Amino acid sequence: MRKLLLQGLLHAPLTEPTPESDEAALAELADRLDAAARRRLGRSLSIREVDAGSCNGCELEIHALNNAFYDLERLGFRFVASPRHADVLMVTGPLTKNMREALERTYQATPDPKWVVAIGDCAINGGEFANSYAVEGGVAVAVPVDLHIPGCPPTPGRILTGLIALLDHASGTTN
Ligand code: SF4
Repeated sequence: MRKLLLQGLLHAPLTEPTPESDEAALAELADRLDAAARRRLGRSLSIREVDAGSCNGCELEIHALNNAFYDLERLGFRFVASPRHADVLMVTGPLTKNMREALERTYQATPDPKWVVAIGDCAINGGEFANSYAVEGGVAVAVPVDLHIPGCPPTPGRILTGLIALLDHASGTTN
């Protein structure tokens, strides 16, 4: 016990250094997303996340949008607990047989206008799990998908860029 305590005091923690912070680039991305949401909706964006069978790697990147580094809530973006309050359904993972009905019901419960964003390679076509007996394929098998954001997993910056493109497209604006 004493040895462990000494090791903890004398050695640096076994964690990776935090990434370089590019505050300016992040602020620009967030401002563009906020402007696009306000153009299209007249307010900021509400997002409901649905895990259709993910390994949770994509969730880690989505959760990062809310951490102290990205801190999207300071800009008014919200991850909401109910699809009835959402503009965007952010769906991760391959579509598993067990989650198909839940995803369809979540889609039905989301008011118009709504968009479905499929996050990660698995959400496109099943990805790593495509041949599993438990998997039906990509998210589009069950619900119409407006945007795919590829990657295994995609970075938070890539997710933000995808949301901007989606809202720009929906409001007929390009920049
Ligand atoms: S895309 Fe990669 S990180 Fe995301 S659910 Fe599939 S295997 Fe996991």
